[in-house]
Amino acid sequence: MDAKLEEAILSRVRRIVALWPAHAVVLPDQLQDFVTHDFESVDLANRVSAVAELSRIEVTDEDAAVEFWDVDGTLQRAVLRRDMREGEWKLQSLKFQCPVCFGTGLNDDTKCVGCGGIGWGGA
Ligand SMILES: [Zn+2]
Repeated sequence: MDAKLEEAILSRVRRIVALWPAHAVVLPDQLQDFVTHDFESVDLANRVSAVAELSRIEVTDEDAAVEFWDVDGTLQRAVLRRDMREGEWKLQSLKFQCPVCFGTGLNDDTKCVGCGGIGWGGA
């Protein structure tokens, strides 16, 4: 575990959340440099106000998953990928934990209808 790297990634997530738009369907200019080219703008519908507390962080050489509680009490999951050219960590997705299956993607062993079995974000 590289604490410095984790701290850098978490601070990146905080920065992105601070820039996160309250209402937007297309990626706003201020976030252009912070997301991967395959970031899906559907995630912009997710309401995220501020990082309250880190829950879990997993980092590999190429990507990172950061789960955190936002100030509204929702568990959020940010997935970042390291841009090999620039060396920067960029956001690939930012989704809230499905309130139906609590991130498992399953309800009574069947695919959750709330999130389509993904566990994060709405279907
Ligand atoms: Zn679900």
